[in-house]
Formats: sequence, structure tokens, C-alpha cells
Amino acid sequence: SGVGGLLSRAAATWPDHPAVLETGSGRGLTCGQLEAAAQAQAQALADAGVVPGDPVALRLPTSVDFAVGFFGALRAGAVVVPLSPQVPGPELERLLAHSGAKVVIQRDADAELPAGVSGLTPRSDPDGVVEFVDAGRAGEDIAVVSYTSGTTGPPRGVMLSHRALLANLEQLGQVEGALEHDDRVLLTIPLFHVYGLGPGLLHAIAVGATAVLSERFEPQRTLDDCAKHGVTTITGVPTMYAEFAALGADELRRGLATVRRMTSGAAPLHPKVLTAIREAAGVDVYEGYGLTECAPVVTSTLVTGYPKPGSVGRPLPGIELRLVDSDGTDQAVPLDPDDVDDVFEAEGETGLVSIRGANLFSGYWPDGEHGPDDEGWFRTGDVGYLDVDGDLHLVDRANDLIIVNGFNVFPREVEEVIGQLPGVAEAAVVGVVDERSGEAVKAFVVPAAGAALSEQQVVDHCTAHLAGYKVPHLVEFAESLPHSATGKLRRLRLR
Ligand code: ATP
Repeated sequence: SGVGGLLSRAAATWPDHPAVLETGSGRGLTCGQLEAAAQAQAQALADAGVVPGDPVALRLPTSVDFAVGFFGALRAGAVVVPLSPQVPGPELERLLAHSGAKVVIQRDADAELPAGVSGLTPRSDPDGVVEFVDAGRAGEDIAVVSYTSGTTGPPRGVMLSHRALLANLEQLGQVEGALEHDDRVLLTIPLFHVYGLGPGLLHAIAVGATAVLSERFEPQRTLDDCAKHGVTTITGVPTMYAEFAALGADELRRGLATVRRMTSGAAPLHPKVLTAIREAAGVDVYEGYGLTECAPVVTSTLVTGYPKPGSVGRPLPGIELRLVDSDGTDQAVPLDPDDVDDVFEAEGETGLVSIRGANLFSGYWPDGEHGPDDEGWFRTGDVGYLDVDGDLHLVDRANDLIIVNGFNVFPREVEEVIGQLPGVAEAAVVGVVDERSGEAVKAFVVPAAGAALSEQQVVDHCTAHLAGYKVPHLVEFAESLPHSATGKLRRLRLR
């Protein structure tokens, strides 16, 4: 039952089908072996004193170990708290204290842990015969506490029930072109983030596809892995696709020869990346939109079956979406998608994205506060609009809005304009305090390899394409920009 039931079903239906495979070590487990390893892991947790309902942290990279630890912990009835294996000591201590986890599954059981917390290694013996009776947690029981990326503030622990995670997989499963049994899906994104976990690992187990796992994304090596392992689809993030595109058409064609489609989420995918990959390799990247609170997928261009540059598509079946203004009034007025200026100028027609569905979270850990409202709606912090086809476009996060002399500037619009300038690899825009205008626009620009760019070129290009108050006052060149593990721009750090 519950999320753990996905693996039991896979093991009963496809015992000898490869479930997980590591590109680096070549280590892999069939569905049956993963089930056996999870049993052994559950027993080890019970032996360590874990009882149903206890939070158990998982501090593992994208690997077979993660799958074993995750399903083992669920079987023991634990609330799984996936954490980045890279979090530095003090933050780890904070997250462990906040989650209340007293047991951590990590590769080096003895690696520094705060007093009162013990480490346990992931079980590697897939052939052991441990008969462990599943704790039977399901429905509204919490399966996972997932800490958000912390892009906008301190990370929050999102409580995801078995019901929410299973609902999102069911919603995804109704979309044609989502994962299928004969797929080999490449995952280099972190599984400790719910994007890699839900539509990545769990969806693969649910349909009996093979998850091809790698701890690191390195564009050339990852492309080689795709060809070597006959990868048919990739669940990835925009930074990956941008780095793929930079390798050039020949490499892409060769590396993506067996790939049928790819999906991107977690941050905006630049239209020029989508186009470059399609032109080079004939493979489409379908963009989706999600949030940890939604377990996580909300919309995808897979729903309509055609990728539309700049759009994140439509809600998955079973998910309701509304655009509201700050007092909750509906704002869903379709705009003319060809008139991009209109879109960014047309205030009032954009709105805050609100979501309702069985996939929603149960509030924030530990008390379940600030969950969906009485009518079941959850208001995201994202501003968007629907185009005439009814496809969603995200404008920006409401919190990232820069106010210059009382005029609204959404960083993403300025970033996209700068990104069109030849020789620009990436751009980021933040608001800085300005004595005269309140806030001023500052741009960080990463030049493409070998490109020579001047501040003046950036400013002139913006002046030609944007209203005056949106043009950056300050331009700073940088070698790279700070990103989270899922490729999100760390705007707070830039600020
Ligand atoms: P925190 O809330 O701690 O700052 P976070 O908001 O980054 O972290 P996540 O759940 O990891 O938490 O990310 C969800 C957010 O990611 C969405 O609210 C949205 O702003 C952004 N996002 C997701 N997919 C896309 C996309 N396709 N295009 C643009 N933004 C996206």
C-alpha cells in the first residue's frame, strides 16, 4: 500500500526487469532485487529502533543506494526526509534538528553527525531473504518531508502524503508521452529534490521503466552515457539542456540518437535552447512547471503534445488552475501570445497561479501549517498568464518583482531580452537599492566562450527592446552564476 506499494507491484509484475542502473559503476538492480534490498533496509531501520511515523533522513546522491534507502525507509513506515549529501555541517545540523530525524541513511555511517543522531549505510545485498512486513502507511500518512530549494528564503519542510505523491503519478500517467514501460530514463538531477524523486524515480518504478542514474551531470560524458545505455528519455533541468546545446549539432545528434523526447522543469527553459536541440537532433524538450508543494508537477506541454517555446503547457488531468489577484479575484483573461509587449505591460491580466488537486501537500512540517485553504486551493508565489490557446506562461515569481519609480519590472523579461544578444551565455537581473528610483535594475551577464561584450552593447540592446525603466543601470560581467542543484538561479545570493 502507499508509495512503497509501487515497488511491490513492480517486483511482482516485472521481477527480472532492470529497475535502476548506475552509469558510473554499472551497478544495477532488477525490480525483484530492489524489493529484496528494500526489505533488508527496512529490517536494518527497525533494528536501529525506527518505528512507523519516525522521520528518517536520506543523504545520498542520485544512485541505486538512494532507491534502496528510500523504499526501505517507507517500508519501515518512516517519514523520509531526503537531504542533499552536499549540505555543509551547520546546515545539516539545522535541517536534522528541524525535521527531528534521529537516523540518517548515508554512505559513510560514521560521517560527522550531531550528537543523538546515528548513521546507517544503505543495504547493498539484493539477494538476502529478509521477510519484513510493510508498516502499511498510506493515504493521508506523510511519506516525505521535502525541503524546498531555498531560492527565496529559508528552506521549508513540505509535508507530502502518500495520497499526494500517488495522485501526481496518476495524473502524470494519464498524459500521453509521459514515461512508459519500455523507457530508459536518464536521471542526473538530485533525487533528494521532489522533481527527481516523483516524475523521475517513482514514476519509473510505477510503470516499470528503467531509471539510468548518474551522480553528476557532465555534458559530454552524460551524452555518451545516453548513447551507451540506449536512453529513450531524459528528465532534466534547463541548465543541462543549455550545456547540451553548447556542444554543437554533431555531438547532439550522436548522443541523442536513441532519445525520443526530453522534459525540462524547475526553472525557465530558454526558447533558443529548445529550438537549438530540436534543429540539431530532431528531439523535442517538453517543458513542465511544478512546485514541491504540488508533489510536484502542475503543468506540462506534454498535455497538448507540442512544445511551445516560452510556455509551460496546461495542467495535468485532475489539476485545476486559476489565476487570481492578491485579493483572490479571478484574472484568467487570455491574451494575444504574439504581442509579447502587451503581455508584460498588461497588468491585471496576469495573476497569481493557484492550484487545486489531490496532489497538494499537507502543510509545512512539523505542524502542517499553511496548507491549502478551506476550499482546497494553494496559492503559489508565481505570476503567470494564459495565452489564447489556454497555455500557461510564467512571468516570474511575485517576490522577484523589482519596482523602479513605481513601475513593475519582472527580472525574467529583462533576462530573456539580454539572452537574445549574440555572445551571451546567461543573464540574471536583480533589483538594487537606488536613492532616486527606490530600486534600480542590475544585470549580471555571463559571456559565451570567446565572446567579447561591452556594458554599452548590453545597455543598447536593452534600450532597443525594452521600456526605459526596465533597462539595466548596472551591468556586471561574471564567469558563472550561482545555481541550485536543480538549476535554479540563486537570486538571493546575487542580490
Ligand atoms: P523556496 O520556496 O525555498 O525558495 P523554491 O520555490 O525554489 O524554494 P521549489 O519547489 O524547488 O522551491 O521550486 C518551485 C518553483 O520553481 C516554482 O514556484 C517556480 O517559481 C519555479 N519553477 C518550476 N518550474 C518552472 C518553469 N518551468 N519555469 C519557471 N519557473 C519554474
